[in-house]
Amino acid sequence: MTKQLPTVFEHVSDWAKETPTPFYVYDEEGIRATVRALFAAFSWNPGYGERYAVKACPTPGILRVLAEEGCGADCASASELYLAAHSGMAGRMIFTSNETTDEEYRAAIAAGAAINLDDFTQIAHLKRAAGPGAFPKEVCLRYNPGASSLLDANTQAIMGDARGAKFGMTKSQLLAGYRTLALLGVERFGLHAMPGSNSLNEGYYPALAAELFALVKEIKAETGVTIHFVDFGGGVGIPYRPEDRPVDIAAVGEGVRRAYEEAFAGTDLAPAILTELGRFVTGPHGYLVTKVIGEKHTYKDYVGVDATACDLMRPAMYGAYHHITVIGKEAVPAAGKVDVVGSLCENNDKFAVDRELPAVEEGDLLVIHDAGAHGRSMGYNYNGKPRCGEYLAHADGTLTQIRRRETLADLFATLDVDGEFSGPKGE
Ligand SMILES: *Cc1c(COP(=O)(O)O)cnc(C)c1O
Repeated sequence: MTKQLPTVFEHVSDWAKETPTPFYVYDEEGIRATVRALFAAFSWNPGYGERYAVKACPTPGILRVLAEEGCGADCASASELYLAAHSGMAGRMIFTSNETTDEEYRAAIAAGAAINLDDFTQIAHLKRAAGPGAFPKEVCLRYNPGASSLLDANTQAIMGDARGAKFGMTKSQLLAGYRTLALLGVERFGLHAMPGSNSLNEGYYPALAAELFALVKEIKAETGVTIHFVDFGGGVGIPYRPEDRPVDIAAVGEGVRRAYEEAFAGTDLAPAILTELGRFVTGPHGYLVTKVIGEKHTYKDYVGVDATACDLMRPAMYGAYHHITVIGKEAVPAAGKVDVVGSLCENNDKFAVDRELPAVEEGDLLVIHDAGAHGRSMGYNYNGKPRCGEYLAHADGTLTQIRRRETLADLFATLDVDGEFSGPKGE
C-alpha cells in the first residue's frame, strides 16, 4: 500500500538541488484546505473557533497561514504566546498549561489570552500572579472525565480511561472552581476536556460533546454559572498508515451538532465550541525530505539517511509509523524489508523498522510523510546535531524558507566560555 504525495512534490528533486537535505516542506494549499473543511464542519455553531495547538508547529510562517484562515492559538508557554500573538492570532488565544509558574500566568494575562486552569489549586496561583483587583475576566477550567460516566463499552472504547492522565480536575473540584471564579468576578467561563489523542473514530468528538454538554447543564444547575464556551482540546487523528481511513470532519461536526441540539434545545444555553487541533490541521501537510547516505547489511538490512531523530522524534519516542516514499521509485515494487536509520548514537534512531521499500541507492531522496505536527517542534540536539530548516511550498511549486537550518554557532550560543566559541569557520 502506498500514500500519495501532493502534486507540488513534482518539484522535490529541484528543491533538493538548491536546499541541502534534510529539510521540512509544508504544503500551503493542503493546510488551507483542511482548515476550511474544519470551519465548514462547525459552521452551524456561530461562536466556533479553532485554537491551533502551537506546540504542533511553532513556526510563524505556518501560524500566519492559519491566522489568515481564521485560526487562533492554544498556547502552553510564554514563547508560544509570543509566537501566536506575533503571527496574527492575538484576541483568539487560550492558555492551556499545567504546572504553571506565576511568570507564565502573567505572560498569558499580558497577551490577553483566555486562561484555562488545569487544577482547582491554580485559582489561587492565578490570583497571586494577577495581583490585587486584576483577576482575569475570562477563565476556563479543564475537566478530567476519569472513567465515571463513560462505562458503556462503545464510549469507553472511544474515550479510554483518563484517570491515569495528569491533566484536568475531577467534577467536584470543577463545580467548586466555578463557584470560586464567580466570586472572583469572572464574566466569561469556559469548560475544557481533552481525554483522547490521535483518534480516527468519528464518534470521539460527539461522545465527548455529549458528556461536556450534560456537564454544562449540571454546572448551571449546581452553581448558577453559565458556560460561554466548550473546548474539546485536540485529539482528532490523521491516517499515518496507508491503510488508515482519514477522519470525515464533516461527519464529526454533524455528530457534535446533534449532541448540541439534544442537550440545549429549549434551554437558554448556547455555548460556543472551540477546538485545539494540532495534528489534524498541519500533520498530513508537513514532510521531512532526507537523502540516502548509504546502506549496510549485517544481521538486518539498513538504509542510512541524513536526517535523525533530532529532526523527527516520533518514531524513536513512540514507535510511531511514518510512511516513506522513495522519490522516482513510487511505482517500483518493494525489494525487501529494511530499517531506515539516522546517525545518532542511539539504537532507536530509526524512521522505520522492517519497512518494505524498493531498492535504494546513495543519493536517493526519501520523503517522510505526516511530519507536519509534533515533528520538528519535538526535535532536540542530541549528539550536537543542528536541526533542519523549514520551507513552505506554494501552489506553484515555489518554496519560501520559513526557518533556516541551525548552525553550530546556534548550538554554542548558550555556552559560557572565554573568548569566541562560535563554531568552525563557515558553519
Ligand atoms: C497537544 C495538545 C493539543 C493538540 O493535540 P493534537 O493531538 O495535535 O490534536 C491540544 N490541546 C492541548 C491542551 C494539548 O496539550
